[in-house]
Amino acid sequence: MHELGVVFYVVRDVKQTAEENAVERVDSVTLQIGEVSGIIPEYLTDCWNWARRREAVMEEAELVIEQIDALSRCEDCGEEYATVQHAKICPRCGSGNTYLVQGNEFLIKEIAVC
Ligand SMILES: [Zn+2]
Repeated sequence: MHELGVVFYVVRDVKQTAEENAVERVDSVTLQIGEVSGIIPEYLTDCWNWARRREAVMEEAELVIEQIDALSRCEDCGEEYATVQHAKICPRCGSGNTYLVQGNEFLIKEIAVC
């Protein structure tokens, strides 16, 4: 499961950051996840709730997920449009010469401590 791998990565990163800053308890972790990153927030939360209990430092930490909308841009006419609705075809000129501007992100935005 993709989400479980992501959670292990986040746990490792949060743990390391907590150790470096001599933090004893993490309050919440905020992630930014792109709409087309392939990560399903509900699964991620489930995995998180399981994984955090294994680490004393983040036992109580809540996972906050911010979704970033997917946006594509057309190289031919410059139109920016919603990727999920139109996929790779520009809704303005019909060109397939498009690329993803944002929406594939996976970032740890913030680690909050008590
Ligand atoms: Zn276009």
